Amino acid sequence: MAVLKCEVCGSNQLIKSNNAFKCMNCGMQYSLKEIRGVFDAAQAAEKATQRAKDDGCSINNGTAGKG
Ligand SMILES: [Zn+2]
Repeated sequence: MAVLKCEVCGSNQLIKSNNAFKCMNCGMQYSLKEIRGVFDAAQAAEKATQRAKDDGCSINNGTAGKG
C-alpha cells in the first residue's frame, strides 16, 4: 500500500481531519480531491520502484586480449 506524502515537505505525517488531510510537519492542508491525486502519484511511483528492483547479479564476461 502506498503511503501518502506531503508534496511540500515530503513528510508522511498526514492526518485526516474535517474531510481533509493535514500535514503535521508543515501544516499544509489537502482536500480529499487533492489527496486522491497525490495517492495516485504515490502508487505509480511505487510500481516504478518495484520494476527497478529487477536487477540480478551480472556476469562480467570480458574478452581478454592476448597478444
Ligand atoms: Zn508537509
